[in-house]
Amino acid sequence: MTETLPQLLLRLSEGGEPAYLWGRDAARYERREVDRLVNAGVLVESGVAEEWEVCPSCCCGADVRPVQAVGDVWRAICPVNHRADTVLTAEELCYFDIRVPALIGEIARSSGFRSPPSLMLPGLWCLGDTAVGRAVFLAITRAALAERWIVTALRDASRGRPITLLHPHPLGDAGASFVQAGFWLVPAAAALPTFKLDTRQLAPPMAGVRLVVHAARRMAALDGIEIALPPQSLTVLKMLVEARLKEPTWVSGHDIEAALSQRTAADVVRDLKTVLNRSVKGSGNLIEGARLPGRYRLTLELHQVQLLP
Ligand SMILES: [Zn+2]
Repeated sequence: MTETLPQLLLRLSEGGEPAYLWGRDAARYERREVDRLVNAGVLVESGVAEEWEVCPSCCCGADVRPVQAVGDVWRAICPVNHRADTVLTAEELCYFDIRVPALIGEIARSSGFRSPPSLMLPGLWCLGDTAVGRAVFLAITRAALAERWIVTALRDASRGRPITLLHPHPLGDAGASFVQAGFWLVPAAAALPTFKLDTRQLAPPMAGVRLVVHAARRMAALDGIEIALPPQSLTVLKMLVEARLKEPTWVSGHDIEAALSQRTAADVVRDLKTVLNRSVKGSGNLIEGARLPGRYRLTLELHQVQLLP
């Protein structure tokens, strides 16, 4: 599988700053995508290369070739054989500075984290909490994870919540202590095929749990996919989960109308189903309705739902 632009930028940043994206690599991606990152301040056009890699199987013995303008054409000059000169375009010759804080900001914003990411130490960022209450950290460099006290530092920063650590792959020696500490480890490239985190990767599959409602964050996660809930949909879904967690599993339309004045239960349940279907196709079917008297329930099993305060 070819590397996406976010994956490439993370990989190029693994050695710490300064990190550069070469024009010839940027040219493999859609211009629109690169321009967007320039506008967002993630990439800053920094200059033009004055040196180029030596020609393949050259006998000149040099590490790099000088780039020279010959007329209005740029050439990487081979000192041995001018027929081995490489003609270069301006696009290939330019390079971008990768601004890591802006890159992390772009990831956090696209992924819907509430507050801006915070830098814990060079190369290690705290992104925030997921809908299911995990603290997510993103390590850009391996060096950041090599400190002895890093497990303690991450635990302190997570304030008791379970930890998901996105890391450069392969992780190296540090991995064992993180596994022992109970961290959920995810190669950053696997969770970031786009700038929006693939939330399904962020937590270990919980034994059978499919729907988690995180009331304080107004979020639900269904099969790991995060769903933002408008206030009325949150209220109804919470009632349905609470009912599912204890008998009887049905919620009467009357109770829903009492909780949400001025709207019929059928209306607000329809809205909730729309919200669910928009995020996870077909998931509106998880809510079953019955008439006489009007009532609703979740079709999930007791062990498949979880309610976080
Ligand atoms: Zn050469």
